[in-house]
Amino acid sequence: MSQQTPDEAATECIWLAEGSVCELMKSCRCCGTDCSFRRTPAQDRRAAAVWQSHMASLPEEQQRRIAKKYYGGNMPWK
Ligand code: SF4
Repeated sequence: MSQQTPDEAATECIWLAEGSVCELMKSCRCCGTDCSFRRTPAQDRRAAAVWQSHMASLPEEQQRRIAKKYYGGNMPWK
């Protein structure tokens, strides 16, 4: 069984930028799979789907208030 370096192991993370820099924790080098903030593209898509589903399930008035306050009146979950 081969050992991956932290850089290789974390290449699936959506926050990994060029030069093994972490875009989430600015100026830090990626620490690899032990990182609790690591998120793969598949995990990110699932989280977005859960968020959209949750937002769409809220009462209409609450959706309108959130849209107005945080999204310039748009409802990106619809
Ligand atoms: S969030 Fe963690 S795994 Fe992802 S790039 Fe940053 S340090 Fe690496």
